[in-house]
Amino acid sequence: MFSVLSVASAFGNRNEGVFGGILKLSPEVRALCEEVRRFIEKEVEPRSRWIEEHDAIPDELVAKARGIGLFGLTIPEEYGGIGLDLAGKCAIEEEMGRTNYGFASFIGNHTGIATTGIVALGSATLKRRYLPRMATGEWIGCFALTEPQAGSDPSALRTTAVKKGDRWVLNGEKIYVTNAGVARVFTVMAVTDRAKGIRGISAFVIERGFPGLAVGRNELKMGMHGCTTAPLAFTDCDVPPENLLGPEGMGYVQALKTLTMGRVTIAARCAGMMDKLIERSIEYMRMRTQGGRRLSEYQGLQWMLADMAVARDAARLLTARAIETILRGERGTLEASAAKLYATEALGKVVDSAVQIHGGMGYMREAGIETTYRDARITRIYEGTSEIQRNIIAAQLLKDE
Ligand SMILES: Cc1cc2nc3c(=O)[nH]c(=O)nc-3n(C[C@H](O)[C@H](O)[C@H](O)COP(=O)(O)OP(=O)(O)OC[C@H]3O[C@@H](n4cnc5c(N)ncnc54)[C@H](O)[C@@H]3O)c2cc1C
Repeated sequence: MFSVLSVASAFGNRNEGVFGGILKLSPEVRALCEEVRRFIEKEVEPRSRWIEEHDAIPDELVAKARGIGLFGLTIPEEYGGIGLDLAGKCAIEEEMGRTNYGFASFIGNHTGIATTGIVALGSATLKRRYLPRMATGEWIGCFALTEPQAGSDPSALRTTAVKKGDRWVLNGEKIYVTNAGVARVFTVMAVTDRAKGIRGISAFVIERGFPGLAVGRNELKMGMHGCTTAPLAFTDCDVPPENLLGPEGMGYVQALKTLTMGRVTIAARCAGMMDKLIERSIEYMRMRTQGGRRLSEYQGLQWMLADMAVARDAARLLTARAIETILRGERGTLEASAAKLYATEALGKVVDSAVQIHGGMGYMREAGIETTYRDARITRIYEGTSEIQRNIIAAQLLKDE
């Protein structure tokens, strides 16, 4: 694990003047970011259209990602991973924001909410069984909290886990589970004691192949193509006692911590997406001529570009603040929600401007901007909608009253 003093802002690599004072990249993380950038350009970008059209990630790309250790980013070195902390993870997320969103989500989910709980709360037995295989990408992970009647309000969960002898028996259903289609390891929230409310929700690590777990059909989505999203059904699903993750009743509390960190990483990815859109818009404005002038000479478009850059930088600063707060040992609830809220909403505006700057070309599949336009929409919905982020921020502001 790199320490906060030596690591890694997502931001230092391109904007040191702005971010250098907040968090610094260690040479190791800087080198890793460069390696990921090369990997994206050489391996992911050429396959991006294929991923988009086939709604799948080619096996050879998964094999290449395994080759550079992408699946083990956040898993401690003793279990075969790279052991990045939140700052390092965000540095990579910003890089990943510059490429195919489905691929970035696949890796980001596995190395984020699917892994964080096992790393933080797993017993030695659980860690030894799952983390080494997850670090190599042999086993993919996912995180299942949402249910048909429990989206923004996870306290309405109905999936139950009941103790029979020394084993747990799960019944219920989950929906919209990212990576479920390809996952082997499922972190699942279930009610173990309804009378205790959210303190009666526990987390379990469930393996594909446990009797009573069924994974449903991959959903067809607006964007995020290549990354599977599927429902799960538990029918008397038999779970061994050692697969309870952390203390009984601590599942929801842990889920909140996991989601808090997840929100920061989404904000970092959004900053990367904005950066790429700005880069592409500058290229297009310099290249395209209309009315005898380059687009870059029109003040209306220059101002659009200026607003895009300010939004990206503000997103990076809020993300850096959230990272720094959490790595200092504070919860960072407000900071993480503020970063996610701002970055995801700013991305919506930035991608809209990027389409506008590209004119008709922005609307065409071939330019790839419309793909980002669709992909960007999910960031305001999952891991807590924008409305829920506002609720969280307001609750933090008012909590002493
Ligand atoms: C592609 C995709 C991938 C996902 N991946 C995962 C995953 O891996 N694991 C997982 O567990 N879940 C996952 N989700 C679920 C996601 O987190 C939920 O969809 C999200 O939290 C919103 O819940 P909901 O869809 O039930 O919407 P609802 O909660 O029904 O919300 C509908 C609308 O009401 C608003 N609203 C609801 N409550 C309030 C309130 N209290 N105050 C103000 N407004 C409110 C919402 O903001 C929204 O605008 C995924 C979803 C999608 C679409």
